[in-house]
Amino acid sequence: GLNAEIVCVGTELLLGETLNTHAAFLSQRLAEYGIDVYHHVTVGDNPARLEAALRQAAGRAGVVIVTGGLGPTGDDLTREAIARVTGRPLVLDAGVLEGIERYFAARGRSMAPGNRKQALFPAGSAILPNPNGTAPGFVLEWEGGRWFVALPGPPRELRPMVDGPLVPYLERWSRRAGGMRLVRRVLRVAGLGESEVEHRLADLFARQQRVTLATYARDGEVHLRLAAKVPLPPGAEPGGAPGRDPGAPAARAGASPSPEAAAASALAELEAVAAAIRQRLGIHVYGEDDQTLEAVVGELLRRRAETVAVAESCTAGRVADRLTAVPGSSAYFLAGVVAYANAAKVLALGVSPHDLAAHGAVSEVVARAMAAGVRRMFGAHWGVATTGIAGPGGGTPEKPVGTVYVAVAGPGGSRVERHRFLGDRDTVKTRSAQAALLLLYR
Ligand code: ATP
Ligand code: MG
Repeated sequence: GLNAEIVCVGTELLLGETLNTHAAFLSQRLAEYGIDVYHHVTVGDNPARLEAALRQAAGRAGVVIVTGGLGPTGDDLTREAIARVTGRPLVLDAGVLEGIERYFAARGRSMAPGNRKQALFPAGSAILPNPNGTAPGFVLEWEGGRWFVALPGPPRELRPMVDGPLVPYLERWSRRAGGMRLVRRVLRVAGLGESEVEHRLADLFARQQRVTLATYARDGEVHLRLAAKVPLPPGAEPGGAPGRDPGAPAARAGASPSPEAAAASALAELEAVAAAIRQRLGIHVYGEDDQTLEAVVGELLRRRAETVAVAESCTAGRVADRLTAVPGSSAYFLAGVVAYANAAKVLALGVSPHDLAAHGAVSEVVARAMAAGVRRMFGAHWGVATTGIAGPGGGTPEKPVGTVYVAVAGPGGSRVERHRFLGDRDTVKTRSAQAALLLLYR
């Protein structure tokens, strides 16, 4: 079937100054659409080498996706190179030129002469609008069902274009590649280790067929990925006549179920596996897909009209940072105090100097006192606290590096947990913030 190749353009990629995230992002999307990718190519801003890379890609892939080099400056060479490889002259699109002029006028800036070339496209291209920048992309079908796609370099411009105007093309290529789409669901699990998750789901892992399962451990969470291949229903052709893709296999009629019915049954099976997992893991499945723990906690607080204040020692603001990463968090987040020194814990949180002396700052008693103190200080429903030894120094035999207490104080009293995290300073801080949020969630 149809396959794709990704060509990323930019000398900064070859110098290691910019990490090539487009190759991963585009490959993920293409995999979701069932389109195989056999090569990633990275090439610098050099006209001869770029042209050679494009010729090679076009010689072995039906769809060549080129990223970067659509800007206004002299080292932006992508449109010229595609024009040469396909033998299509560059033509000016008056509508795009007007759009670029308006973009500058709206920002009170004058347009540089170089921006004019961003309105040039190889003849026959369909333009991919770019709402976040001046350079639109384009899609060019040339020579018998082969395609070039050009996308701008900046990720905040490229990604919405791939998930927006490029979608009808991805669907069309997907049909030509076999007509299967990969549907993914992620169940986010906190408070259980990866091996414990696999143990509790052992039979589901053993029995996986149409729905495949995989686990990923990330920053103290386990993400369970469910995936199923689902047939794409026949759809409209972008820029062409609606209806069946003439290049798609014609074997759909007859005994086999319609793609719609097959897709519905695959999705139902995915839902059934997700429901079984939720039942086994209970509250440990806190969210799905892109939902973060802080977003889920925030939603609970918002719904109950409750508030939270945090007192952080070893995490030094990470819990507050995560809680306030959620839009609308001012509805429930009241305050965060970073109290590092013992004197700060006394002054800012009302922790008793006697408790500090008797138990040490990294202790159950002090963790509880910090949570209760910050709760009282700001009149919050919930107080959250962290105190621990992030390392690499400062450990003792009784309290080795990575020993962390997290506490939550609420209307019904306080809860505290002792943890021992392994890893470097940054890892201990990350895992501590996660444990504090999880204790608040539960
Ligand atoms: P511009 O109009 O900004 O010049 P462009 O289409 O010409 O856009 P480039 O100049 O190649 O794109 O890249 C612009 C910026 O986009 C780069 O500095 C880099 O930060 C980012 N970028 C480019 N290619 C990639 C990539 N493969 N992965 C991640 N980021 C990239
Ligand atoms: Mg550029």
